[in-house]
Amino acid sequence: MITCHEVEATWKDLEDIKICSYCGSLEPGIFLDYLKNPSNKVSGSDWKYGWPHKFYISVQQHMFKFYNIHLIEPSIPKELFKLIEERFQIVFIPIDGKLHYKAPAVGYQYYDL
Ligand SMILES: [Zn+2]
Repeated sequence: MITCHEVEATWKDLEDIKICSYCGSLEPGIFLDYLKNPSNKVSGSDWKYGWPHKFYISVQQHMFKFYNIHLIEPSIPKELFKLIEERFQIVFIPIDGKLHYKAPAVGYQYYDL
């Protein structure tokens, strides 16, 4: 179940993965699995909404995105927060249904060369 959007949304199948029917984000468990593979290149996005709202991950020539708003969902694996901090140096902390973050600098974007 998806709880982070103000509209009803579900995880829908896209070939062999699942994405959010509202925003197109990868399902968090799949994003976690992809992040565990260091050969999958990752990057942040611009801060056009004023915070690091999205990551990109490239998997076998396919570019996927993960929208961080999904991190407020109760079912998010704790390991994902740890890996995001290790890989992107951004700490996300959900508190009472709101997502807080600590980034190295305003506008900071991690990316693999
Ligand atoms: Zn979504």
